[in-house]
Amino acid sequence: MSESNAAVHVPPARKNYDVVIIGGAMMGSSLAWFLASNDAFDGSILVVERDPTYEFSSTYRSAAGIRQQFSSELNVRISQFGAQFIDNLRSFLGDDPRVPEVPIRNIGYMYLAGDEAGVERLKYAHGVQQKAGAATRLMRPEEIAEAYPFYNLDGVLLGSHNTVGEGTWDPVTVHDWWKRIARERGAEFIHNEAVALDLSQDGTRVDAVHLASGESVACGTVINAAGTRAASVAGMAGITIPVEPRKRFAYVFKAEQPLSKPLPLTIDTSGVYCRQDGSDTYLAGGHTEPDGPSAIDDFSMDHGLWMDRIWPAIATRIPQFEAVRVIAEWCGHYAYNTLDQNAIAGPHPHVRNFIFMNGFSGHGVQQSPAMGRGMAELIVHGEYRSLDLSPFHFDRVLSGTPYPESAII
Ligand SMILES: Cc1cc2nc3c(=O)[nH]c(=O)nc-3n(C[C@H](O)[C@H](O)[C@H](O)COP(=O)(O)OP(=O)(O)OC[C@H]3O[C@@H](n4cnc5c(N)ncnc54)[C@H](O)[C@@H]3O)c2cc1C
Repeated sequence: MSESNAAVHVPPARKNYDVVIIGGAMMGSSLAWFLASNDAFDGSILVVERDPTYEFSSTYRSAAGIRQQFSSELNVRISQFGAQFIDNLRSFLGDDPRVPEVPIRNIGYMYLAGDEAGVERLKYAHGVQQKAGAATRLMRPEEIAEAYPFYNLDGVLLGSHNTVGEGTWDPVTVHDWWKRIARERGAEFIHNEAVALDLSQDGTRVDAVHLASGESVACGTVINAAGTRAASVAGMAGITIPVEPRKRFAYVFKAEQPLSKPLPLTIDTSGVYCRQDGSDTYLAGGHTEPDGPSAIDDFSMDHGLWMDRIWPAIATRIPQFEAVRVIAEWCGHYAYNTLDQNAIAGPHPHVRNFIFMNGFSGHGVQQSPAMGRGMAELIVHGEYRSLDLSPFHFDRVLSGTPYPESAII
């Protein structure tokens, strides 16, 4: 399968906007909604989206998970706000009765460690999560066996488990309502593509965004929310960012003998993950080795991966998965930050009106509420007011200093 973009571009209604957001998926729409809903903001917003079907976006191909189990406190707090937002969607969206309630399905996550280094990682992360108030619990193999008798725990030394604010949710519905309400509050969404940026003569500002349809718009602030195309959009401003597309594969399957209780999203010692999907279906995912960059429009399946790596791993860990039938499969791309697999967010230190929302690797849908809120605060108030997101700033890329996160799936 390859990406197509049969363009029927829509021209912008105006010649200038206070805020131009490039990319209208999870990050772009979150920011548009947080801005449009902020009483202190009365500016104009343009969201430029090259593919309004979102078919190939990471957002529409994600595994829709949210977890508190990160190794950096900031990522835990970001997901805590994510969980609060998802579980109270209608209330956050102004108690609008049209908005559905789509709370998290708290099936939880279960990280399994099979060696001493893994045990140390889980223990360290557990300390961080506890400090942030997460309900994570370390479990010895016998405790895991008692709670989830279907696992084969050979080779497992420790587990880390939580079912509060952790499980699966419905990012597509949240995305849809962010877009819909942002639009109703004046944000303009157009089907078009940003193809070039004009910098000011001294190189400290983006003055204008050029569109594939031929128009250009002047901008007060421009946001790079272009997902796997983030490096290309940054490049239009002469900026290099370490973000590349990487293929990730997902499989939905039925088991001949379903499990006795919902399967937490289990990160096996092999790196393969698997979780409950529907009431009698499961979802597993992983990637090929060696991992590396993909062509931007290559969404082809690797036909050996399921048989050679994913299925053997899950059938070893859960013997009932010896007899399964794959009913759906897809390939999506992570916007993979090769420096540290963490977000690159916030303003460029020199091109001051260029804001990044990039490099979310495998955890961007759950981070979208906190990221949209944070970037809106920065634009409206010139500072973060709820969570300080400055550890994600681009400065660390310039200095080559990673902001590490060890719990990457
Ligand atoms: C298989 C898989 C599983 C995942 N599982 C999870 C999970 O369980 N939990 C989690 O939190 N995250 C998960 N993720 C990651 C998550 O999906 C992403 O981090 C998140 O969706 C990023 O959103 P985004 O808006 O930044 O990017 P995207 O969703 O990729 O959207 C970027 C948008 O920008 C548009 N665009 C690009 N260039 C231009 C341009 N020049 N002009 C106009 N528009 C442009 C694109 O068309 C696209 O719609 C997963 C990802 C994959 C692939």
